[in-house]
Amino acid sequence: MEAYPNADIERAAARGCADGCDDAAVRALVAAVEPQSPADDAGFAPGCWVTSVDGHPVRDLIDWRWLSADDVIRLGYIDLDGESGEVELEREPWEDWGFTFEGVVFDGVRQCRNACTFCFMRQLPRGMRPSLTLRDDDFRLSFLSGTFVTLTNLSAADEQRILDQVISPLRVSLHATDADVRRRIIGKHAAHGLEALDRLLAAGIEFHAQVVLMPGVNDGAVLAETLAWAYERPGMLDVCIVPLGYTKHQTAFDRSFNDAASARAVLDQLEPVQRRACAERGTPWVFAADEFYLSAYGPRLLDHLPPAAFYGDFSMYEDGVGIVRAYVDDWEASAPLQAACASALRRENVRVRLLQGLAMKPVWDALLPKSPLAGLVEPLFVPNDYFGGNVDVTGLLCGCDMAAAVRREAAAWACDGATALFAVPRVAFNDDGVTLDGMDLEEMQRAAGAPMAVVSCNPSEFLLEFSSGARTSGRRHA
Ligand code: SF4
Repeated sequence: MEAYPNADIERAAARGCADGCDDAAVRALVAAVEPQSPADDAGFAPGCWVTSVDGHPVRDLIDWRWLSADDVIRLGYIDLDGESGEVELEREPWEDWGFTFEGVVFDGVRQCRNACTFCFMRQLPRGMRPSLTLRDDDFRLSFLSGTFVTLTNLSAADEQRILDQVISPLRVSLHATDADVRRRIIGKHAAHGLEALDRLLAAGIEFHAQVVLMPGVNDGAVLAETLAWAYERPGMLDVCIVPLGYTKHQTAFDRSFNDAASARAVLDQLEPVQRRACAERGTPWVFAADEFYLSAYGPRLLDHLPPAAFYGDFSMYEDGVGIVRAYVDDWEASAPLQAACASALRRENVRVRLLQGLAMKPVWDALLPKSPLAGLVEPLFVPNDYFGGNVDVTGLLCGCDMAAAVRREAAAWACDGATALFAVPRVAFNDDGVTLDGMDLEEMQRAAGAPMAVVSCNPSEFLLEFSSGARTSGRRHA
């Protein structure tokens, strides 16, 4: 399950679905070949296909790594002329084979067979890129790209493969362990997923788990039971609790944990479990997503946000756990850069408007007043009209909303003759430079009627970009 598809999934989606794919059709497209590597010496080039290793099909990068571990391998291939054959490759023990493949799964993405009530893919407006509506549930992507899976589509052969190739740790969507609640949330295959999870845990496979928390559905006593079930199983490395996200394009949900009282209640419930886990395992073990802290504490966020040590190796960062702490620490460590950036903006008479989702308001309210950048850099909070509901993070901002916000701000701009620099965090774009609603920067600028720049999401990097952007903008308007 992946709410916000990454490049691996978008590429794999373009190649179709794995279900029912026969071995003869499975092949890995060579995207690049390292010069003077064994692959290069054997004549491979981008555009060739690898069809087998020692007679075995290569279904994904896990197979490739597993099968190509020896220093002599026999590769099946299809060359640039469409001719197929086999060739033996040999390497030194320290040497890489020299292949880079297109994507990480070569037989297409396995799709989910669930009907989760909260599924973000079912809440999307019409007209989004088709690859964004792909509902993947593929344990290979979980291992290789960090997506969460339910295991409800796992076959006995898949389970055996996970054990044989020690495909661990995996990331699992747990949601609830109560049978009835689980079935209500996930659908009729819910029990199969939990049984598979339990067997794999018993056999030594490790998991990071996720619970999407829905008020009145799997919170309170249900959550307590879920956490107790998971805590009893040492292979469950940690659990993150993320609040339900809902859009305006559905009718099933109209609230989540966006008010202070309900967010605090969840944090309070987790606290004794975290204290016990710290004492027994040296880790809080269960983590609340940043949204809970933002909603619970608002402008007093910094008094309550856990320190970096609480998050350990930030293993749930991609799931929104610890991002705010990392952001705050990076900002505070960048004090000299803030001073330098403030000088550059003043000198060039440039003011930055950094586009942000509304979720970041408590963070900026806490950080900016104490900074030399106050009055020079200001967040431009963009309401997410495209998705609506409680969607308010920067990463889900769409081009149309950002362009509209910049257009409004540019029209009202009057700042002592200063030039406005509108900065859009890179997280709003995919690897092809396109927003969730399919706009690139050029289209956004046309719609906004103002120049915009794409910047890093990390303060220590975007402060440098603001400084150099100020010099460019200042020169342009000199
Ligand atoms: S139905 Fe459930 S498992 Fe499938 S994509 Fe949606 S949330 Fe993920």
